[in-house]
Amino acid sequence: MESVIEVERLVKRYGSVEALRDVSFSVLSGEVFGYLGPNGAGKTTTIRIIMGLSRPTSGSARVFGVELYKPGGSGVRSRVGYVPGVFEFYGGVSGGRILDYWCQLAGGCSRGVVRELLEAFPLPLESAVGTYSRGMKQMLALVMAFSHEPDLVVMDEPTTGLDPLARGRVLDFVRSKAREGVTVFFSSHVLSEVQRVADRVGLLRSGVLVALEDVSSLLRKSGKVV
Ligand code: ATP
Repeated sequence: MESVIEVERLVKRYGSVEALRDVSFSVLSGEVFGYLGPNGAGKTTTIRIIMGLSRPTSGSARVFGVELYKPGGSGVRSRVGYVPGVFEFYGGVSGGRILDYWCQLAGGCSRGVVRELLEAFPLPLESAVGTYSRGMKQMLALVMAFSHEPDLVVMDEPTTGLDPLARGRVLDFVRSKAREGVTVFFSSHVLSEVQRVADRVGLLRSGVLVALEDVSSLLRKSGKVV
């Protein structure tokens, strides 16, 4: 099966801090890949390199065969959706305008797709984003990430700030998108949600990928791994 993301021997140092040590894995087309690790394990560092927002100290991360921080990555970018762990929206602007603006940047969104996303995650689009709760902002980021029908969506702890009901909706939604053929990279520090959503799991601890396995084998070891 085709690899959508290929991470090879990735190392990232911040001064004396070694955030990633020789991390390698592939994410296959159509799978939900869970990237599990406690806070500070290096999940965001990996994701920022994959998304081309940060350069590795050594090694590489390719998305559809391209390293996104290099020139030439722009062609691939439109095929990728991204839910960052931290996002800053202009608080005075309405959710609807932010979504419209994003769709223009992304080269257009189908109205039907946006309608379907907003049915799954209803938002007061006419209200200023500054009035949104943390969870509502998270939902807006999620709607934006899927609105241009990307082939791959990279999600950095997308259930942070959500209540259990909304969490469940996000997990079900990710599974439904995977059934439609979208590849999803899903980072989390919560074992149970990765078990529920992912096909395969990479387990990261202190910058080291300590396990890479099917969710079924992770389930057997459940409770001993994190
Ligand atoms: P969290 O869930 O808390 O975001 P994480 O698994 O995403 O955790 P990272 O944010 O990737 O972890 O951080 C990995 C390590 O790298 C941590 O020790 C962190 O302090 C360090 N680190 C991350 N970014 C920087 C930076 N810009 N400068 C210095 N150290 C950093």
